[in-house]
Amino acid sequence: MNRVVALATLQFTRGGLFDGRPVGPEVHLVRMLQNAGTPGPTLCGLDRFAKGTPGWSVGGGVHGAGIELRPCPACEAVAFQKYDGAPAWGSAPFNTLFRRLLPAPWDVRNLPVVATEGRE
Ligand SMILES: [Zn+2]
Repeated sequence: MNRVVALATLQFTRGGLFDGRPVGPEVHLVRMLQNAGTPGPTLCGLDRFAKGTPGWSVGGGVHGAGIELRPCPACEAVAFQKYDGAPAWGSAPFNTLFRRLLPAPWDVRNLPVVATEGRE
């Protein structure tokens, strides 16, 4: 079973490590399991593993001057519907982007389980 303890931020990017740019301003959420895995699509249903999908960063990404970041409203809605109480995992500024979610500690193994789901 998948034991969801947190929601990790996910930013889609194009380009390499040093010239990467966000695909858009929206930052998404993915489920984070007790063992720290982050399986499956974004909460709003984007399949990041599909062919032709841009690169992505879990828990971080590209930020700084001139780069707009905003929380994906569809991910936020699912977070409250299905994972109420789950904190947001990531580095600053990503972990505080979803203002109604508390930032998660870096080590999520001791967080309470907010949802238990079958494996996909
Ligand atoms: Zn989303």
